Amino acid sequence: MDLELSKEDLAFRDGLREVFLGAVPEDVRRRTALGETTREDIVTSQRILNEHGLAVPHWPQEWGGRGWSPTQSHLYSSELQRAGVPQPLAFNVSMVGPIIAEFGSEEQKRTFLPATANLDIWWSQGFSEPEAGSDLAGLRTTARRDGDQYVLNGQKTWTTLGQYGDWMFVLARTDPDAPRKQQGLSFLLLDLNTPGIERRPIKLIDGSAEVNEFFFDEVRIPAENLVGEENKGWSYAKFLLGNERNGIAQVGTGQRIYADLAAASGAIPTEDGLLGHDPQFRTALHTAKTTLLALEATQLRVTAASENGKASPVSSLLKMEGTQALQELIKLRMRAAGSDGMLTGTGEQVRAGDAASVAATQYLNQRKLSIFGGSNEIQRGVIAKTILGL
Ligand SMILES: Cc1cc2nc3c(=O)[nH]c(=O)nc-3n(C[C@H](O)[C@H](O)[C@H](O)COP(=O)(O)OP(=O)(O)OC[C@H]3O[C@@H](n4cnc5c(N)ncnc54)[C@H](O)[C@@H]3O)c2cc1C
Repeated sequence: MDLELSKEDLAFRDGLREVFLGAVPEDVRRRTALGETTREDIVTSQRILNEHGLAVPHWPQEWGGRGWSPTQSHLYSSELQRAGVPQPLAFNVSMVGPIIAEFGSEEQKRTFLPATANLDIWWSQGFSEPEAGSDLAGLRTTARRDGDQYVLNGQKTWTTLGQYGDWMFVLARTDPDAPRKQQGLSFLLLDLNTPGIERRPIKLIDGSAEVNEFFFDEVRIPAENLVGEENKGWSYAKFLLGNERNGIAQVGTGQRIYADLAAASGAIPTEDGLLGHDPQFRTALHTAKTTLLALEATQLRVTAASENGKASPVSSLLKMEGTQALQELIKLRMRAAGSDGMLTGTGEQVRAGDAASVAATQYLNQRKLSIFGGSNEIQRGVIAKTILGL
């Protein structure tokens, strides 16, 4: 079953497909479908999308937004993911861009927004710290005001793709004496070429090093790089986290994995026949299909209920259920790979392009989905409080 689309929506969808499948190079999409997207792939693809007005459609119109209907926005993300087009860099388009557009000064908008949309600047997210992940407001990195500068000291961790970062948006404590820990935080833009910054890679369970730690020692940030008001950073961070959650569910990616599995399983031999005829496997596939349908409807609901760039609280539900569904599908892909899917070495030793090996590395890599952007346990707390009113 598909969501019923009007003639106009179908024409809109076909226009998107033309760009996604016609303008974004096939090898970039193939690597992305295998989970092997490179930095260059992300940059190439985002610049092509930006050229076609498709990198930041949800931004305010004066900065490249398209003013689409909820259905159009939904079609955009699901078609992009189904086509295997690399997601425009979330740190740029879903996180810092909307914050600058909503709360930044005119000068910050002019300086950063066009370069952020075109990925001329690669942003990193400097929120989490060793003792402040779920309890983000407990962070200890300080930004002391000194004349027309802030002086940054402390540590950030789990910085995804920070090895490519040109700039980082940092949440730091500007008032250590504020009565509540949420009250003394500020949102600052940091050029990662500033002296006093050390970056160390963290090796992950799949053998890759896509996350990093950053250490700051007397790092000077011009005061004009403060976004919005001093000590109001927590409200900007909450705005940003709502949008971050929204993008993690990746319903279109789930649909692509489902379609591949449904097509391939009919030809995969098992001891008792073909995998596609195995009742347990079929039940699991059907469950995944129904869940994806429910998620598609939820995504539409979230998009329709998000106002002025502020995500609806239902995004917590979408994040939790969407990441669980994707992890289940990735497990099914492992099952389909059978003994070929057993990881025999570290990530570096896995043969590129080998679908079975990719299933294993992807399985390990995607454990992160239920942790980052606020763990799924934390989302349950948000749902209880903001949706159920408990
Ligand atoms: C691969 C990866 C990439 C990441 N990328 C970034 C990034 O680019 N930038 C960035 O700033 N951060 C990033 N993060 C950090 C991420 O946001 C945190 O890992 C996450 O918020 C959890 O925090 P924590 O790791 O400190 O775990 P903790 O907060 O210590 O939690 C440990 C466990 O306790 C549970 N728990 C904690 N508090 C509660 C509670 N109140 N109720 C119920 N259960 C609770 C959690 O769910 C979790 O299972 C990334 C994390 C990962 C794994």
